[in-house]
Amino acid sequence: MIPLFAQYPSLKEKIPYVSLGELPTPIEHLSKLGMEIGVDHLYLKHDGLSGSLYGGNKIRKLEFILADALQKRAKEVLTFGFAGSNHALATAVYAYKMKLKCLSMLLAQPNAQYVRRNLQYSHVCGAELHHYKNELAMYMPTLVRLFGRFLRHGKFPYIILPGGSSPIGAVGYVNAGFELKEQIERGLLPEPDQVFVPLGTMGTAVGLLIGLRAAGLKTHVVSVRVVDDKFGNKEKFIKLFRKTLALIRSLDPSFPHVKIADDEVDIIHNFFGEQYARFTDQGMAAVNLVAKSEKIRLDGTYTGKAMAALIDRVRNHGLINEVILFWNTYNARDFSDTIKDVDYHQLPGCFHRYFEEDVQPLDKHHWSKVKSRFSQVK
Ligand SMILES: *Cc1c(COP(=O)(O)O)cnc(C)c1O
Repeated sequence: MIPLFAQYPSLKEKIPYVSLGELPTPIEHLSKLGMEIGVDHLYLKHDGLSGSLYGGNKIRKLEFILADALQKRAKEVLTFGFAGSNHALATAVYAYKMKLKCLSMLLAQPNAQYVRRNLQYSHVCGAELHHYKNELAMYMPTLVRLFGRFLRHGKFPYIILPGGSSPIGAVGYVNAGFELKEQIERGLLPEPDQVFVPLGTMGTAVGLLIGLRAAGLKTHVVSVRVVDDKFGNKEKFIKLFRKTLALIRSLDPSFPHVKIADDEVDIIHNFFGEQYARFTDQGMAAVNLVAKSEKIRLDGTYTGKAMAALIDRVRNHGLINEVILFWNTYNARDFSDTIKDVDYHQLPGCFHRYFEEDVQPLDKHHWSKVKSRFSQVK
C-alpha cells in the first residue's frame, strides 16, 4: 500500500488511485558528484524510474488523475503542453495502458532531440496530437474539439491540466513526501536539510512540501523555476498549496493542517535563462558534470537547470555539512527501441518542422554517448 494510504486509511476509501508506477523510487548517494562540488551528503531520488514504460515526475500525478478519470467513466482524456512535453507523453503512455484515448494540445517550443523522441513515442501510443503557435491560437480549437467530442460520444473528454498540476495530481507528490519519510526511517538517507526540485506547473514542489510537513519532516524545499514566471510564481504556489491541502482535508479531516511560512516558498529564479526549454550554458554544464561523475542523465529543460542552481548554492552558501537531496524528475527509461521504426511523416504535418529544422545549438549529441545505468531496464 502506498505510504499516504498507510498513514491515512480513510483517504484510501475516498481518493481514486491506480498503480502505474514502480514505487518507491530508489535513493542514491552521489559521492563522486558530492566530492566534485564539495558536499559530503548529496543524495538523489530516482523518480526517473517511477514507471517502467516511461518514468519521471508525471507518473505519480497520473496515478491519481487517471484513476479519477476512470472513476468518472471517461473514455478520453485531453491535456496540454509544449511540443516536447514530458507530461503530454506520460499521459499518452499511461492513458494508452488504461485504454483511454489521449488528445494532446501542444504549443510551439525551441527544438531539441527529446522533442522528436517524445512526439514519436506519443504517436506510437496512439495519442491524437495538435500543434498551435501560442496559447491564444489554441483556445478556440480546443473548445471546438471538446464540443465535437461531446456531440460524437455524448461525453466530454476528461481534462488534465498542464503538467498534471491539479490538486488531485499534486496528491501524488504528497504521497512522495511520505515515501521519503519511510526511506529515512529505513536508514537509506538522513533527513535532508534541503531538497532541490525543478519548478514548472508546481504540482511536484507543492505536493512534496505538503507531504514532507505532514510526515513531520523539516526538509526545506528549494524550487528552481524553469518556466515563465506567469506560470511558476509564489502566489500561484500558495494557491495550489491551499487547494491541495483543502482537498485532502475535506476527505480526511485528521490530515494535519500544515501551514507554510512566507520564507518556506523558496523559488530560485535566475537559472531559467531566456525562455522555457531554451537550454543554458550553466544547465548543460550541470548535465555534463552529472553524466560524467555519476552516469545519470539529466535534461536541459528542467533538471539541468535545477542541478545548476544546487551547485551554485552549495558553492556560494557553504552547505558543506548539510544533507542535500536532488529530486530527479526526468525520465530515465530508454524507449529508443519502441520508436525506432516511427517515420516522422506519420505525424501531423505541423510537427514535421521539429524533425526537419536543426535542434538548438546547446543540444549536443552527448545523449547517445551517455549510457545511463538504468536505461537498460525496459
Ligand atoms: C514537468 C516536469 C517538471 C516540473 O514539474 P511541475 O510539477 O510541473 O512543477 C520537472 N522536471 C521534469 C523532467 C518535468 O517533465
